[in-house]
Amino acid sequence: MCRHLAYVGPPVTLAALLLDPPHSLLRQSWAPRDMRGGGTINADGFGVGYYTHAGPVRYRRASPMWSDSALPELARVTTSGAVLAAVRSATVGMPVTEGACAPFHDGNWLFSHNGRVFGWPSSVAKLAERLPVTDLLTLDAPTDAAFLWALLRHRLRGGADPAEALAATVSEVDAAAPGSRLNLLLTDGRRVYATTAGHSLSLRLDKSAVVVASEPYDDDPAWRPVPDRSLVVADPTTHTVEDL
Ligand code: GLN
Repeated sequence: MCRHLAYVGPPVTLAALLLDPPHSLLRQSWAPRDMRGGGTINADGFGVGYYTHAGPVRYRRASPMWSDSALPELARVTTSGAVLAAVRSATVGMPVTEGACAPFHDGNWLFSHNGRVFGWPSSVAKLAERLPVTDLLTLDAPTDAAFLWALLRHRLRGGADPAEALAATVSEVDAAAPGSRLNLLLTDGRRVYATTAGHSLSLRLDKSAVVVASEPYDDDPAWRPVPDRSLVVADPTTHTVEDL
């Protein structure tokens, strides 16, 4: 169910990250290797957010990544040192729209969710009461992922530490909706924050770059699987993997 990826490091083309590797996100859109909890392909849209001198810019579509005729050309000429991208397998009952595709965005933040909130939406109705009503009226889409983003964004706007905000969001949703799958991915373009709760995730660090991805996109031995129920904080020089 959904595959996502975040990169921080020296500038690379989007094609080098998303299209060219042997098990790229493009390939994962139609032949993922490690889908857990249902879903077979990720054909319900895709999105890429990349950092520019003017902050993050997004390109999202509600169609399969492989069918987008503009992406290969754009990806070949677009270079960035920080990227968050995702291919989507919509949870049953949730709409297939551009607004439902990650990355979600606020200021310098980009966010993605791989998983599902169990019992959506009634299980989390009480959590919604903590949000300003305007946040609820302006959700990007009527989906669990957009709601999770609203919960997390509220904490970030309140000045919370990003890693703590991520862990607190997983814990409150876990409590309200046990059995949820909550692989969250967040970046500000300098550091990557991620959780594992129910889905696969791998981390790759080399001397100057960090990649966090649902599935390794190549056979480089530097990839390390992240254990379930972990919180990852990583930038090109340091990283921590702690229990959630
Ligand atoms: N539940 C989310 C959605 O439908 C994410 C789906 C997924 O991880 N497959 O958008």
